[in-house]
Amino acid sequence: MLRSRFCPLCAAPLEKRVPELDDRVRHVCSACGFVLYMNPKIAAGTVPVGDDGRIALIRRGIEPGAGKWSWPCGYVEMDEDVPACAVRETREECGLRTALGPLLGLYSYAASTAEGAISGTGMVIVCYLARVTGGVLTAGDDAVEAMWVAPADLPWDDLAFDSSHRGLRAFLDR
Ligand SMILES: [Zn+2]
Repeated sequence: MLRSRFCPLCAAPLEKRVPELDDRVRHVCSACGFVLYMNPKIAAGTVPVGDDGRIALIRRGIEPGAGKWSWPCGYVEMDEDVPACAVRETREECGLRTALGPLLGLYSYAASTAEGAISGTGMVIVCYLARVTGGVLTAGDDAVEAMWVAPADLPWDDLAFDSSHRGLRAFLDR
C-alpha cells in the first residue's frame, strides 16, 4: 500500500505532495485530486477460555507467523464492528462459539515495525477475553492445528507475535 502508484478512482498516476489544509506528504491523484490516506489496519480476536479454564490456541498455517501459536484473530471487515469481528474470527479460525468478555488489550504497531509488515501497513490489534459457549475446537483454513492448553502450559517460546504474548499475559494477569 505504501507503494501505491495509481488512483483507485480514475487510475491516473498518484504523486506525492502535501494536500491543501494538510501537513504531511500524501499520495494525491494527479488527475482527479483524490487523496489516498493510508491508515493502520485493524484486527480483532479473542483469548477463548473453556469451562475448565483451558485456552484455545491455533497454530498458524500462513505467514506471517506460520507454524507458530496464537489466539484467533483477523482483520475487521468494513461491514462489521470490532466485537463482531472478534467473535467471527474465533469461530472461523478454531470452530468455537464465544461470548465476549472484557477487553484484554489493544496493541498498536507503527508501519516500520508492524507485525505482518508484508503490506507495509501499521496494525492495531484488539484482544478480548471470551468465554466458550459452544462449537468443537477445529483448525480453520488459516490454521494447521488447534489445541486446548492450560495456562501453566502456554507455549511462550513458540508464539507468533508480540500481540500473542501480550494478550495471553494480560489474561494471566487478571
Ligand atoms: Zn484520480
